[in-house]
Amino acid sequence: MHELSIAMAVIGQVEEAARTAGATAVHTVHLQVGELAGVVPDALEFGFGLACAGTVLEGARLVTETVPGRARCRPCADEWAVGMPPDLCCPLCGTAADELLSGRELQITGVRFADGTAGGPVLEPTGGER
Ligand SMILES: [Zn+2]
Repeated sequence: MHELSIAMAVIGQVEEAARTAGATAVHTVHLQVGELAGVVPDALEFGFGLACAGTVLEGARLVTETVPGRARCRPCADEWAVGMPPDLCCPLCGTAADELLSGRELQITGVRFADGTAGGPVLEPTGGER
């Protein structure tokens, strides 16, 4: 299950941040998920709930923020929301987009520890398929 391995990668990064911060429990993890990242947020939250058992993240809440996919057409400098399933052809001239501006994010944007201190967004992206 794709989402479970992503959840485990996120947990690994947050564990490291918690260790660095000296935190013993995590309250909330904020994660940006691009619309085109190929991740189902519900499945990710489910995987997160399973995988954080027994870690410093046990009981933590995963808050996902969906980042809409946007593409740009170079010839007419038009930008549009590609939607899902993605429409990568320029609505003005029909040329296939050669540039994806956003939508492939898979990144921890913030961590709140149970003692109220906040960590991040200093963490590395979890490495989506770029
Ligand atoms: Zn165009």
